[in-house]
Amino acid sequence: MAQSLNPSIPHRVVIVGGGFGGLSAARALKGAPVEVTLLDRCNYHLFQPLLYQVATGALSPANIAAPLRRVLRHQKNTRVLLAEAVDIDVANGCVVLSDGKVGYDTLIVATGARHHYFGKDQWEELAPGLKTIEDATHIRRRILLAFEAAERESDPEKIRAWLTFVIVGAGPTGVELAGALGEISNDTLKDDFRRINTSDARILLVEVADRVLPPFPPRLSQRARSMLVRLGVTVRTDAVVTDITPEAVTLREGSLVETIPTRTVLWAAGVQASPLGRMLANKTGAALDPSGRVVVGPDLSLPGYPEIFVIGDLAHFSHRGGRPLPGIAQPAMQEGSYVAKVIKHRLRGKSVGPFHYFDLGNMATIGRAAAVADLRWVRLSGLPAWLVWLFIHLMYIVEFQNRLLVLLQWAWNYYTFNRSARLITGKNPLPLNL
Ligand SMILES: Cc1cc2nc3c(=O)[nH]c(=O)nc-3n(C[C@H](O)[C@H](O)[C@H](O)COP(=O)(O)OP(=O)(O)OC[C@H]3O[C@@H](n4cnc5c(N)ncnc54)[C@H](O)[C@@H]3O)c2cc1C
Repeated sequence: MAQSLNPSIPHRVVIVGGGFGGLSAARALKGAPVEVTLLDRCNYHLFQPLLYQVATGALSPANIAAPLRRVLRHQKNTRVLLAEAVDIDVANGCVVLSDGKVGYDTLIVATGARHHYFGKDQWEELAPGLKTIEDATHIRRRILLAFEAAERESDPEKIRAWLTFVIVGAGPTGVELAGALGEISNDTLKDDFRRINTSDARILLVEVADRVLPPFPPRLSQRARSMLVRLGVTVRTDAVVTDITPEAVTLREGSLVETIPTRTVLWAAGVQASPLGRMLANKTGAALDPSGRVVVGPDLSLPGYPEIFVIGDLAHFSHRGGRPLPGIAQPAMQEGSYVAKVIKHRLRGKSVGPFHYFDLGNMATIGRAAAVADLRWVRLSGLPAWLVWLFIHLMYIVEFQNRLLVLLQWAWNYYTFNRSARLITGKNPLPLNL
């Protein structure tokens, strides 16, 4: 690890990405004898697990995002830069920005992942994915506009197409979106329209695997499926999407091919590591896995480059030599704290053992009082799982104010069945594309 020759010049740690991994590393470096620069192309930390609630009008964007400057305001050794990293100049120890450069002694890259359309990039516009605030408000717009268009339409077939929502991918995000859509159409909107019956909405959850929530134990997948069905969601497993157009989606189930008229397809099927991973691999010779994640060593640094760490969704870390860690928040946060510890120890001339992941389990919510939780030592479903889900999500939301606001909003939504953030924002949607 490069050291500043002059001890009065602090060691420069640059963290690219202020998500779960980057922010956790920055916080763990509080008070350390280093100069931390946290750079992100957004000025906020985003709590992605609740994005689906913004997409379905339950929460407002500001409830799940916290300005990075505010979060780190008391951390005197840390500065926050609004900047986009476009390359890493490994030879000269600097991060190349779209508008400048920042030098580092130690670099932590935590730029996460983005949607992956498995080579069908043309689907991105037709079937938006959920990763950013902009994605969430765009999806919210698409969902609400579909109901508006159905209300204006008189042709029953066209109404049916507007009221058909197809969600591709039954991982936690797809399941959460499908459940929330079920609640919107059965409860939230049921008195708001005059011509259409919103509970006629058809919600299809399509999954290529043989069950929903494939990483969960089969019994919890089965429970999740039953809860979805109770909300009016049709689950199609072992089904592959073969085509998406503005007016239909085509599915293949075994030898059966079906084209379903729909105006709203949402993508929750795959992620690919941030492009910075490939750039780093080109510069350092590090290996990439098929999702573009950078294969890191036991201490999360790049082989041959002890001063460069890659963490979170961008990293491929073989846990105990086995499968890579999943792209969820816990590994990212634990990796961030671990790397901070490595840096602090190295500066004192000490070493730290390899990274060890402490698995806290997996959770997904389906709707009101309906969730599944695999906490490794206990498996829960229904209300108990939902309460655990609620508590854990509240605990991890950054900033006390947001925690309180989300709690109040949830309590209000629970008792009123309302979702008050049902705003159609963005470009003027009129005339509706009927
Ligand atoms: C819809 C959704 C639901 C999820 N639900 C759950 C859940 O319920 N439980 C769970 O544990 N996990 C969940 N996850 C996964 C979890 O959010 C990720 O695993 C976690 O965010 C990964 O952290 P990270 O720090 O690697 O990346 P991120 O949190 O994605 O942070 C990456 C940061 O890097 C910034 N960035 C990217 N590129 C650049 C660049 N070139 N220059 C500057 N900045 C850049 C981004 O703006 C972002 O702030 C969900 C994810 C999504 C999208």
